[in-house]
Amino acid sequence: MTELRIPGNAARVMRRLREAGWEASAVGGCVRDSLLGRAPKDWDICTNARPEEMRRVFEGWHTVDTGLKHGTLTVVLDHEPFEVTTYRTDGVYTDHRHPDAVSFVSELREDLSRRDFTVNAMAWNPEDGLIDLFGGQEDLRRQVIRCVGDPMARFEEDALRMLRGLRFASVYRFAIEEETARAIHAKHRDLGRVAAERIRVELSKLLCGAGAEDILRAYPDVITFLLPELAPCVGFDQRTPYHRWDVWEHTIRTVGAAAPTETLRLTMLLHDSGKPRVFTVDEQGIGHAYGHAKVSVQLAEAVCERLRLDTATRDRVLLLIAHHDAPIQPGEQALTRLLNRFGEEALRQLIEVHRADEAGKGVRPPEEADQWAAELLGALDSLLQKQPCFSLRSLAVNGRDLMALGIPKGPRIGEVLQALLERVMAGETGNQREQLLDAARQLAHLP
Ligand code: ATP
Ligand code: MG
Repeated sequence: MTELRIPGNAARVMRRLREAGWEASAVGGCVRDSLLGRAPKDWDICTNARPEEMRRVFEGWHTVDTGLKHGTLTVVLDHEPFEVTTYRTDGVYTDHRHPDAVSFVSELREDLSRRDFTVNAMAWNPEDGLIDLFGGQEDLRRQVIRCVGDPMARFEEDALRMLRGLRFASVYRFAIEEETARAIHAKHRDLGRVAAERIRVELSKLLCGAGAEDILRAYPDVITFLLPELAPCVGFDQRTPYHRWDVWEHTIRTVGAAAPTETLRLTMLLHDSGKPRVFTVDEQGIGHAYGHAKVSVQLAEAVCERLRLDTATRDRVLLLIAHHDAPIQPGEQALTRLLNRFGEEALRQLIEVHRADEAGKGVRPPEEADQWAAELLGALDSLLQKQPCFSLRSLAVNGRDLMALGIPKGPRIGEVLQALLERVMAGETGNQREQLLDAARQLAHLP
């Protein structure tokens, strides 16, 4: 019998249900991840107890019943939430995204059969062991994502499942079973009816997966349906010795090369989107894409809007795209200026964007880009050790000091502070109070 290691608190929740006479199994992602030898993010439990019965079972426990209408009671133990859900089926999906109604059922089998993929449709409890009615374990072993039941019908019920399928394939580097893949190609336009917030979650996980490159390469139809801004990039010949690949293949490789965070991978996905729109060919037949970063920013802005990205992520993505092809100079002074301009976090990301971009060009060995980035980051670290002054905040004088010198309150204060910062960053003045006050007197023409 396949054993699963259930953490103490999840086991307590299941035991409580069983002691009250109900069935209880761990189900879905936690079973899948356990069998893969990965640590599950959370433990979902399913049961034949109905919502009102679950409430009775967990009376006196800390529970939250926001999802109770859909059969979910959240039980909180030591600040850790466990979702306990009544066996249910999802009824009809007239809008391809929400079941019109959920109905509670008494059989685990029915609950498992509404789940999207075989690897997600397994349950486990200590009495029965693994409950695997659709060959999930075999698909895990063979590393394939396969729909439970008829893929066309399952995607018609809920179009998001197509993107979830690509996401799981990307994260686990699994193949997508043939019929499932065919249905995704055939039905992906139904994704147009899925809420942007749900798309964003799955798309970001897809982009951050270890197999993102393979999925982007095999499903340009789905990606460019979601992000039509990228459509002109697919197969677009750059006609330059600086690039080995067309714009889409280059994009794919830069996504794969960048560290797996939503911000970085979305940046890489969109960084060259403007290229085809500004493309020119000179008399020598060499292609150029002057000013493409600016156009990429505009296109990326539309994408961020559509995906309803939060402002902080959006602004960072746009900043990184805007500067993705501006050269980064080494040297302490240049780095100090970059810190001033971007701040430490964004500068580190920008270096990563440049590294990934270089690595994806396919003309020089990727180790060169790695080495360039490692050296730059090393220089940045040693510079930061010295606590350099690169912002008004770290300047040894402030506005009040300048007013005390006799500079009148007003815009002049800010101008003088900025001029002082420039001098410090240029190495013309040390960041010491007396030196700065002298320089300020000079700048303000004070005696
Ligand atoms: P993750 O590790 O990312 O949380 P997960 O498999 O737990 O992956 P969830 O979105 O948390 O994914 O969903 C939990 C379970 O619910 C899934 O394993 C699957 O069985 C089922 N499920 C989720 N979304 C759908 C869907 N759109 N259609 C059918 N079943 C779904
Ligand atoms: Mg989950």
